[in-house]
Amino acid sequence: VTEPNAFTGAALEDRGSDSRRQDPRWVAAQHRDPHARAVVAGSAGLHVADGRLALVPLAELARGARALLLGRDALGPVFAYDEDSPPADGVLPPFVAAGGRRGEPPAGSADGRVALREAAALLPQADGGLAAYAAALLNWHRRHRFCAVCGRATDVALGGLVRVCPRCGASHHPRTDPVVIMLVIDGDRVLLGRQPSWPHGRYSALAGFVAPGESLEEAVEREVLEEARLRVGAPVYEASQPWPFPSSLMLGFHVPWASGEPDASDDELQDARWFSRAEIKAAARDDADDDWETPGDPGDELRLPPRLAIARRLIEAWLSR
Ligand SMILES: [Zn+2]
Repeated sequence: VTEPNAFTGAALEDRGSDSRRQDPRWVAAQHRDPHARAVVAGSAGLHVADGRLALVPLAELARGARALLLGRDALGPVFAYDEDSPPADGVLPPFVAAGGRRGEPPAGSADGRVALREAAALLPQADGGLAAYAAALLNWHRRHRFCAVCGRATDVALGGLVRVCPRCGASHHPRTDPVVIMLVIDGDRVLLGRQPSWPHGRYSALAGFVAPGESLEEAVEREVLEEARLRVGAPVYEASQPWPFPSSLMLGFHVPWASGEPDASDDELQDARWFSRAEIKAAARDDADDDWETPGDPGDELRLPPRLAIARRLIEAWLSR
């Protein structure tokens, strides 16, 4: 995998080091900077203008003081801003994927907004990366308002890169959940699987969360065994991709098949099977649409994952060798 993956490449010269963020005067100066701008997102999507992610002057935003500092670009400070109002009843706000649960376009998409998935598919590379950074940080703040140690409401610190508990002093850092995704290869064929909720005909690389106390290599081996009853050899790392739905980091591998035949009876997958190089090549000619609205069945014709997904990149990297 040589080209950058979708959701990477945020064009910030500087994410703002912790040593500067620890100085409240420096953080306040970023908020007051006349060039301070914000990526604006909420459950209806991310704001866009003229085919780019909109960077709205911070001074124009009603609750601009609550914006989270992402870093600085060539013009000045860049923030992330949650445009949804906090809930009056104190109940946890709905999860923001800037679109649907997986970032699909919201029903009746508003003008001037795109869903998070669309930000990666339609906007320039750097804008997709910035959208992913903003969404991952906004999501984390929405879902981690209380101290995991003592239960007290926490305060935002370091311009948004940490939350600190005023009662017990615990610091809480934005979390990233590692996910291994692997293409099992046996010479001129590869193993792909599908989940029942996926669109008609869609198959993809196997994937799963890394478990506590597990290395990436062990996670690859375990997931392939659990999902498809196959034994594999040593995985070879290919590339990674932030996947902010809500906070994953996809770690992509090629891994050689060792023994066994695919068996997806373990109910996580609807099907898992080998595809020949010829079948993959034919399917790769189609630019798969990203239709998540209509779950289908295995179908007669293979459809690969969309180009913005690292799974597609793992498959195409294999095809090109
Ligand atoms: Zn606490």
